[in-house]
Amino acid sequence: MFFTSCIELSQSALRRNLAFLQKQVGSGIRFSSVIKGNAYGHGIGTFLPMAENCGVRHFSVFSAEEALAALQSRTCNSDIMIMGAIDNGAIEWAVENDISFYVFELDRLNAAYRAALKLKKPARIHLELETGLNRFGLGMDELLKAVTIIKKDPGSFILEGVCSHLAGAESISNYLRIQRQLQIYHKAVEWLKTQQVTPAYRHIACSAAALTYPETRLDMIRIGIAQYGFWPSRETRMDYYMNNLATMKTKMIDPMRRVMCWKSSIMSIKTVDPGEFIGYGNSYQTTRTQQIATVPIGYFHGFTRSLSNLGHVLVHGRRCEVVGNVNMNVIMIDATGLKDIQKGDEVVLIGKQRKRSISVASFSDLTRFLNYEVLVRLPSEIPRVVVD
Ligand SMILES: *Cc1c(COP(=O)(O)O)cnc(C)c1O
Repeated sequence: MFFTSCIELSQSALRRNLAFLQKQVGSGIRFSSVIKGNAYGHGIGTFLPMAENCGVRHFSVFSAEEALAALQSRTCNSDIMIMGAIDNGAIEWAVENDISFYVFELDRLNAAYRAALKLKKPARIHLELETGLNRFGLGMDELLKAVTIIKKDPGSFILEGVCSHLAGAESISNYLRIQRQLQIYHKAVEWLKTQQVTPAYRHIACSAAALTYPETRLDMIRIGIAQYGFWPSRETRMDYYMNNLATMKTKMIDPMRRVMCWKSSIMSIKTVDPGEFIGYGNSYQTTRTQQIATVPIGYFHGFTRSLSNLGHVLVHGRRCEVVGNVNMNVIMIDATGLKDIQKGDEVVLIGKQRKRSISVASFSDLTRFLNYEVLVRLPSEIPRVVVD
């Protein structure tokens, strides 16, 4: 093996998650798979064809560079949508390749218009409305001007969407802000109707919104974190459980499956006397004769230093503590009591082994990172492999 760890992606877990999400939102709603951040660390190149395999035909990315990666990985003619950064200079490329993009300022709309005229091909655009996130989006006055530009030459544009993004649907504390965003959004869409401007898709929902606010599903949902098998937050998860208590009785059954399993293997094993310090510094001291094993992954590989003396990994289906500091390329684990442990034995860093599992969430609680952040820190160099 050339690499010190590898990330397995489960096709059946993905299929299951997508079926679950489909069941939750009902039929007739377009599903866009959000694959920004290297598909939340899963790897665009590996993940996109897996999703296509399950029937997904729409992908959302953040930037032009991710759109290029998506374009190169797709195995059928799936739609690609850029939700964020694209320089005016790359807009021609997008129009040429049928890639749609958000328009949240007039400068970009004008660039799209110029590209359309030059290529004699309409630009596929999504008007992004400012509804209260105050990040990017067209305010009402800009929307008015945008509509004037579009109506001047409707043949130069395909208005694929009118969209916005919610300010934290994963937490009930944002409830009022989100309700206000929805009001502003619908008011703008109504106004567009009076101007005979109707988008093919109205879309505003991310995973948390699609799961907990049915009224946000509209014509299309943009699902990131949930398709990978992670709840956007504990609240979203509890909300689901509370609504399904009747069918679950007393046991909470997670309907989603983690798509990812991050694995490495034991690099070496040694026995350490009581009272010795492990690794750099003196943050961990043995209290008895302990069996210490090393695993060749460290903060360089996305295993964050804040898991020093806190993290766990799985070996032989048992939880082993990370002892001492996480090094750049290696961690030490306490494998005391694992009798037949050998160099080369599988170590699971995230995912399942026999009956135990290490979720990214437990990782995140420990390090106070969100699921999102732990996932996207996984370097793109680690090989991704598809398993059933
Ligand atoms: C990231 C993102 C999403 C998906 O969010 P999840 O919480 O991962 O489902 C949807 N829309 C936009 C604009 C985003 O940036």
